[in-house]
Formats: sequence, C-alpha cells, structure tokens
Amino acid sequence: MSLVFFNSYSRQKEPFETLEKGVVRMYNCGPTVWGRQHVGNFRAFLFADTLRRWLQVRGFEVRQVMNITDVGHLVADAEEGDDKIQVQALKEGKSPIEIAEAYTQLFLADLKALGCLPAMANPRATAHIDDMLAIIGALEKKGYAYRAGPAGENVYFDVSRFPRYGKLSGNRVEDLVAGARVDVREEKRHPADFALWKSDPKHLMKWPSAYGEHGFPGWHIECSAMARALLGDQLDIHTGGEDNVFPHHECEIAQSEALTDKPFALFWLHTRFLTVDGGKMGKSLGNVYTLDDVRARGFDERTLRYALIRGHYRSPLDFTWKVMEECKSALAGLDEMVSVLEQGGLESAADAGTELVRAADTAFFDSMDDDLNVPQALGALFALRQDVIQRKIGGAEAVQLVRELLTTAHTALGILPATDSAGDAAIEAKLEERHTAKAARDFATADRIRKELEADGIVLQDVPGGKTLWRRA
Ligand SMILES: [Zn+2]
Repeated sequence: MSLVFFNSYSRQKEPFETLEKGVVRMYNCGPTVWGRQHVGNFRAFLFADTLRRWLQVRGFEVRQVMNITDVGHLVADAEEGDDKIQVQALKEGKSPIEIAEAYTQLFLADLKALGCLPAMANPRATAHIDDMLAIIGALEKKGYAYRAGPAGENVYFDVSRFPRYGKLSGNRVEDLVAGARVDVREEKRHPADFALWKSDPKHLMKWPSAYGEHGFPGWHIECSAMARALLGDQLDIHTGGEDNVFPHHECEIAQSEALTDKPFALFWLHTRFLTVDGGKMGKSLGNVYTLDDVRARGFDERTLRYALIRGHYRSPLDFTWKVMEECKSALAGLDEMVSVLEQGGLESAADAGTELVRAADTAFFDSMDDDLNVPQALGALFALRQDVIQRKIGGAEAVQLVRELLTTAHTALGILPATDSAGDAAIEAKLEERHTAKAARDFATADRIRKELEADGIVLQDVPGGKTLWRRA
C-alpha cells in the first residue's frame, strides 16, 4: 500500500507526492503564545509530530516549521478587537514581549516533555515583519491589496480579486457577505475582505512602514510570510486544527497564491477538536487542562502523548481522567510485551510465529500509510502483544522481527518504553541529529555521531528507505 492522506482542500484521500523527491516541506500552524497551551492544543501539535515521524520512517527528509504567533492574533480570531497577547500583558502587568517569550519557552518545554522531535525552526512572527511587509507591498502592486482609512494606514486583501476564495472551507463569498456583522468596517471595499496590516497607536507592539508609524500585521499574513521565508513559495503539507480552516488558512491560501501564482500547499491536513468530559473546554468549566494539571494527577507525559494520539486525527476524541487511567493500563500492557520479549526466554524457544509478526508488521505499516490511522496501527501492536505474552512467538528470527517492528513503532509513535531494542530518548535524539546531518550532506558530523554511539555500545544499521535501526552490541 502506498502513503495516502486525506486532503482537506480536495476533500478526498490522495496518494502522497512531494514537490521535490524525498523531501517534505511541512508547515504547522503553531500556538499563539498568550498563555500556557492546554491538552486540546497539544492534540494538533502531537499530530504534526506523529506525521513528521511517520514521514521519516518512510524515508523522507522532513523540513518541519512550526511557528510561534506573538503578535496580531485578535481575540476570538476576529478582524476587530484586542490582541490576545496584549490583553494578557495588561492582565499580568508585563510587556507583550515578556508574555510571548515566557509562554513560548513553556510551550517548547512541554513539546519536548511530550516527546516531540524538535522542528527545523520555530519562527516568531515578530522576527518576520519585513517579510510580511514585502508580501503586502507585492500584493498591492498586483492589485490584490488596497489601502484604506483616512491616511491609507490599513491594508486589506480584496477577496473579489481571488476567485478561489472559499474553496478550502466551502464558504461562498456571497454567504460571507450576507452573514457579515452590521458593524463591519465601512472602509473595506467588500465585507469579506481581511486585514493584512492594521494601524493602531494604542497597540503596544507596532512597526513603522509605508502605511504609517503604528502598524502591526494581520494574523493570516504572518503564516504566509514565515512559511515562504523558511520553506519557499510552495509547501508539501500544511497542518492546523479544524478551527484554522476558516478564516486563517483560507486567507493564507489567498495571500500566498495571489503572490506567487502557484498552489501554496499540496496537502492540507486538519485535526479535529479534542473534547473534555464529552464537551467543550472552558475556563468557566474548570477543564482547560495543561501538562502541569496532568502531572498533578499523577500521570506522566508518555500517558498524555498516548491519550492524544490514540484516536484518528480526523475523528472526535474525548479526554477524561478515566480515559487517562485506561491509557496508563494500555501502556503497561505494551511494557509487559517488551519485558516478556527481552526476559521471557522467547529467543531460545522453538521457532514459532514469524507469520504472526509479519502480519502485525504489514497491518502496522498499512494503517499508518492510510492517512495516519494510528488507532488501527495500535490495534496491530496490541494483537502482537497477545501473541508475545501467550508465547506464540519463539526463536531468534521471530524475536528479531518483533524487535524491528517495535523499533519502527517507537520511532513513529514515541510511546514504547526504553528497552534493548525499542527506544531510548537520548539515542533517538542522536539518530535524529545524524539524520539531519546526512540530509545536509554533512557526512563528517554523521560519522562522528555514529562513532559516539558505537563507543556507547550502540550499533546502527541503515536500511533502505532512509530508516536507521539500532541495537545494543
Ligand atoms: Zn497559521
């Protein structure tokens, strides 16, 4: 079976292809750092990590960019109103930069604790203002953007000039007009036009530009600009939560494609919301849980990772403390499989069960290849667990096959325990570093890492498809 993904843009599964052979340029919409990220946010970020891991298992070099929105994201994703970061800064009595930096560091630490591999870059929007202004200027020249306001200090994208506007979200411009609020800014040519650059002397973070002294970017132009600055005009994959489809991603497409006249992203992948206790999360409900809340309840990061990746990313998923208990038990079951494998004497038992392992291997790979069907892939692992625990597996060959599958499963999902064969964070990190060095043709570094691991008794084996297996000598 070949790798397929459900493309939100075409609303169907499509065989995965990339612009450049063997390379995936992937942009993940990252957090707006006005507060600590909660379990719901992490569902989308863990999906991005699992996707990246599987692409690497499949031999791709993944150039992953996950941005940090530190300005311009207004409350309720609206076109008008307060900047989320500014609101929090005033609340905490700090500067917006202090707020953004503090929550960025917490976010990156949480990602690491949850076993996410570091992205190639985590660009901050405030570091790419010039890139945004360059695109806005070019869109103006091409007639897609116009200035409004008494001094031409606000710049809008003219959606009537971009006929594909609405294709991703299924919104029709006529309906957007009919549904527009009556207090919509009259300075817009069209009620559905969206802001690229806004002026507000009271905004705490602001930059001088051709449009005046006190401007700041719209949220959407930030992602178009950061993606282009780090990955080029076109992406292979763009991800985000389902709430990003409209207006955020619709607007990104309009900006980027109007600029370059090329498709912005070949694949759009969107994660469904996480519900908590069967419903919405809300501050007033007291169920906006962070990683610290999870720890305070006695659960580790691995259990949270498992709880958030175990469902299919396009299906609803519910988070409860009872589910966390179940996930803890499920992981204990996988740990038991590994300990029976390593200490249960299976290797010296009579040859048995290679066909069972091969079936699990095929099921695991087919499931992951089929639009990252993690629940089905986990099903294959739990079936294999039964076979191992019931000692239907025996002999060196069968045990070795199980080890190889568990190594792949750990690389892909990051939830198996550290053992002789299946996973160890420090070793995985070194392998990742070596993979990056090789991709950059820095063979001296790649060689040095291999030698360091060998000195620690870790033997590497590069296999076709760009994978590296490892074991202790
Ligand atoms: Zn974005």
